[in-house]
Amino acid sequence: MIVADYQAMTPGSRELAQRALRVLPDGVSTDTRLFEPYGIYVRHAVGSRKWDVDGNEYLDFFGGHGALMLGHCHPSVTRAIQDAAGRGIHFAANNPTEVEWAELIQKYIPTAERVRFTGSGTEATLLAIRIARAFTGCSKLVRVRTHYHGWHDFAVSGYNDFFDGRPAPGILPEIVSNTLLVTPNDTEELCQVIARHRGEIAAIILEPLGSHFGIVPSSDAYLKEALTVAKQREIPVILDEVITGFRVGAGGMQRLLGIQPDLTCMGKVAAGGMPGGIVAGSARMMALLGRASGSNASQKVLHQGTFTANPVTASAAVATIQEVVSQSIWVRANELAQLARRRLNEVFERMNVGWRAYGRFSAFHILPEWPHDLSRTDNVERIPWERFATRSTAVLHKLRMALNLQGVDIGSRGTGFLSGVHRLEDVEQLVAAFERALARMREEGLSG
Ligand code: PMP
Repeated sequence: MIVADYQAMTPGSRELAQRALRVLPDGVSTDTRLFEPYGIYVRHAVGSRKWDVDGNEYLDFFGGHGALMLGHCHPSVTRAIQDAAGRGIHFAANNPTEVEWAELIQKYIPTAERVRFTGSGTEATLLAIRIARAFTGCSKLVRVRTHYHGWHDFAVSGYNDFFDGRPAPGILPEIVSNTLLVTPNDTEELCQVIARHRGEIAAIILEPLGSHFGIVPSSDAYLKEALTVAKQREIPVILDEVITGFRVGAGGMQRLLGIQPDLTCMGKVAAGGMPGGIVAGSARMMALLGRASGSNASQKVLHQGTFTANPVTASAAVATIQEVVSQSIWVRANELAQLARRRLNEVFERMNVGWRAYGRFSAFHILPEWPHDLSRTDNVERIPWERFATRSTAVLHKLRMALNLQGVDIGSRGTGFLSGVHRLEDVEQLVAAFERALARMREEGLSG
């Protein structure tokens, strides 16, 4: 049995999980790590590898939830962090590196006329939504079902569930009544919603590739149309480039598509793989963060944060952005991901498993139930979003566990990220691990 072998291989993780259960709800520090019976505990990582407390080695395709475009412990990033930490981690004052970081964002992100840092990607979207509300004087937020913008109150209902717009536990009814959920890739519905709520909408927020870097894929055409419609109606667009920023290219998706969001949120790679986030945007909207904005100083949008632009994160971010951009790190990561997707689909076909690997840029996603009514070559954007939203997490968790037994780790949602440190051999190892993992899963009747 896969579970029994996993438990036999990870006694140290099991022991830590038992301790964790007595102190952390469900034994985890984030829902992202919920895993049955428990997830591995990792002690250290270098390059594309990580090692758990039992000494097992994993080829890592989770890459810090997509935050590590340069792999683990990249020498220049590690040096930047160590140097910064050695100089002091909090000055309760401005630090020179935050200016350098902001200048890099302004230089590479086309619409970043002004920049503010936050403590995380979640805080970035929270701040962007607040700026948009202050700017427009409107309350309603248009969000696309399944798109993720962090875990704050304005982003929760309709992301993972509660797709009908009911409030998720702990979320105020007033918040969901001010949230307009729309269907991925449905421009017509978006236009209707905008028309119905004329003069009420503070912003449209969306992820450029669809939920979680395209787990539920959005087409570029939809994104462009959404921006066009919003511009016509003078509704601000918040583009959530928390994953795509400095992963798909130096200027994010906005440069690749030539689109001009009013506000952009970033984090992860753009924050050097450290806790941090960024809001960037038009000088006109970002001016609301400044005292001298507008006619009335009391209109200023509040923004604080003990750890905002801390010197350690800022140093990691500057080192990461410089390395990623100077080496065009995304080029090889994209190529390797494309190869991985192709090779994985060959495995699924060879093994006659009704699965599909898909995705764009430097990621692969796994859909464990390819709809029977669609041919394998069909475009994923033709698949109804519900098929992705309701895909079997139990199967994907089992897959991750079976891959762990083969010395490979991916995300629990079936996503893998390629980075600048992955090599051709790593893709080969991934494919071989999938083949063995699937064979074992099939023995247990979980696929095919
Ligand atoms: N937006 C997107 C598109 C994300 O992928 C994430 C994190 N996965 C966030 C926002 C939230 O970022 P953080 O986890 O840093 O709060």
